[in-house]
Amino acid sequence: MSRHAQPGVNVQVILRCRPANAEEVATRAPQVVTVAEAAKEVTLYQNVGGKQLGRSFHFDKAFGPESGQEKLYSQAIAPIVEEVLEGFNCTIFAYGQTGTGKTYTMEGGDRNSTDGSNLSEVAGVIPRAISQIFNHLDGINSEYTVKCSFLELYNEETTDLLAVGEASKAAFQKLRMLEDKSGVVVQGLEEIIVKNSTDIYTLLDRGSAKRKTAETLLNKQSSRSHSVFCITVHMREIAPDGEEVIKIGKLYLVDLAGSENVGRSGAVDMRAKEAGVINKSLLTLGRVITALVEQSGHIPYRDSKLTRLLRDSLGGRTKTCIIATIAPTVQCQEETLSTLDYAHRAK
Ligand code: ADP
Ligand code: MG
Repeated sequence: MSRHAQPGVNVQVILRCRPANAEEVATRAPQVVTVAEAAKEVTLYQNVGGKQLGRSFHFDKAFGPESGQEKLYSQAIAPIVEEVLEGFNCTIFAYGQTGTGKTYTMEGGDRNSTDGSNLSEVAGVIPRAISQIFNHLDGINSEYTVKCSFLELYNEETTDLLAVGEASKAAFQKLRMLEDKSGVVVQGLEEIIVKNSTDIYTLLDRGSAKRKTAETLLNKQSSRSHSVFCITVHMREIAPDGEEVIKIGKLYLVDLAGSENVGRSGAVDMRAKEAGVINKSLLTLGRVITALVEQSGHIPYRDSKLTRLLRDSLGGRTKTCIIATIAPTVQCQEETLSTLDYAHRAK
């Protein structure tokens, strides 16, 4: 497996290009991206001095517009969830420009347009992961608990996407992050026990409703926030020799802020700087991943809320997967190049 190719490095980078949407099809927007899945290669074509020049990038895996949710999940994500079920911590990120399919990949497509079955064709990584977890747990001789939390990071402030307060104000209370011996604890964060895989949709709906309310009520711009969905699995198994084995696995599923405010090579876009929308967590995440990949001594976890929160699930024996999302059309090519560069550097 590619993620074992370099000993000690457990960062896997996947590239996904979404299909052209209805508007792009209607306006015949030129497509400038090709994906060679077998070669795990993505090529971006740009017009330079009247010539079409292609630049190719290689990834651990690449998925083109034709590849659906099931394929991406079974090929790239299922092996990571197996690690969680062995008691390890893992993190999956969706990184990319706004509108390229981060939320589609993590949560899924329109839930109302589906056939009502538990895992429809458009179901994303989160419901599929929960389903895999319950399928596994139901088949083994163990006692288990599955807990979920869902939070949002906006301007380095944390809010609980699952808390339902009496007054709207209480529901939007900022949470504090505290460090103890076992890692970082978000004080007062709701942890909901999930009993079966259909429960997950209630939580996703509650979270996205809350994000929408925050957008209007508190004038937040959702493309600037990160959402972090966490699944913790406690398993108590009895080994054949009668010995009790406790395993705790944690999976973080992170839908990152739109990458459009972070320029190429991690430099801060001047316009973004002027507008005061530098995303500290997104920048620091890039630095942490670079430091992990290069195995440099100092990993700057402490420099942002997001990396502090994920500290026990990034590096060490954990597995990290970045799904970088891009659009196929010419209008997005500058941002696409940035994303390809960023994702390629994380390899
Ligand atoms: P982001 O979260 O990155 O801003 P979204 O996930 O909201 O982007 O996707 C933007 C739109 O494109 C949505 O309508 C979504 O359903 C659609 N979309 C994104 N990726 C895909 C895909 N791989 N296949 C089909 N539709 C997609
Ligand atoms: Mg989104």
